[in-house]
Amino acid sequence: VQDGRVADADRPVLALDLGGTKLAGGLVDAAGTLLVERAVPTPARPDPHAVWVAVARLVSGLLAEPAAAAGVAGVGVGSAGPVDPRAGTVAPINVPGWAGRPFPLVRRLTEAVPGVDVRLAGDGPCMAVAEHWRGAGLGADSMLGVVVSTGVGGGLVLGGRAYTGATGNAGHVGHLVVEPAGRPCACGGRGCVETVASGPSLVRWAREQGWQGGDAKALLSGGSAVAAAALERAGRALAAAFASVAAVCDLDVVVVGGGVAAVGEPLFEAVRVGLSDYAGLPFVRRLEVRPAALGPAAGLVGAAALVWAPERYHAAAITENPTATWHARHSAD
Ligand SMILES: [Zn+2]
Repeated sequence: VQDGRVADADRPVLALDLGGTKLAGGLVDAAGTLLVERAVPTPARPDPHAVWVAVARLVSGLLAEPAAAAGVAGVGVGSAGPVDPRAGTVAPINVPGWAGRPFPLVRRLTEAVPGVDVRLAGDGPCMAVAEHWRGAGLGADSMLGVVVSTGVGGGLVLGGRAYTGATGNAGHVGHLVVEPAGRPCACGGRGCVETVASGPSLVRWAREQGWQGGDAKALLSGGSAVAAAALERAGRALAAAFASVAAVCDLDVVVVGGGVAAVGEPLFEAVRVGLSDYAGLPFVRRLEVRPAALGPAAGLVGAAALVWAPERYHAAAITENPTATWHARHSAD
């Protein structure tokens, strides 16, 4: 570049996707392409410092990549919840070092990557944003993004913008109640979608029917009659939740991803059958259910979208780095 400066669009965003199993990081360009991806296991020790050290190493490794030679355009972070985007803290219940004691992640990242904005959202909202920005929800006015995996999470895009609610935690679709007298849920409630449709819930139910296999992967790849029945049950529960959200939010589309959804048609067919039962009002019946397009990369792509398109995807809670100039430049055009 002639004048020695590099345009923001020529620098990637440093994206992080922090979960209970792994800490993932990547460099994502303005088109949403994941240029570099790295991951380390999440430290299992209940030591806040150990988790931060792992994140900081991930960050410095990414900054040393050739694709980041000219710096990065910003830092986007998706984290398992709960998160507090306004305070810039995370306290994910499945990360032992940070659970229950909010960690000042945005402040620490701002110190580690000076001069650019650091933007934080929950991992569910990041998946939804990614699918809306560059995936199966492209062009939708209002969509729900759902991850059906070890848990059931999600996020909302309403009127073309991410809706994260008063505390940044809207879109927790896994805790819609579908069985009022159902099982206690890890969230403290009862009868939530997650108690029926998550991978561990499928396995628990299958075992109650006499299945003697190992984990959700074994169950879903086995093609047994009990697996089909478990998926049908999960699909109905998800359909009840989707119809309910559509009735409240007038959705165009639900995009469904995650390890359990990767089984494909057996689950999606059950969702469609369930919706034909539960969706009554015409505006709910028009709801379309689509498989996610971005796969496991959605978390990183969505975290990057917080920086690339903040006016759409990070409108509710912006944490500015006082030294940043990126936002100032971009809000002018
Ligand atoms: Zn729950």
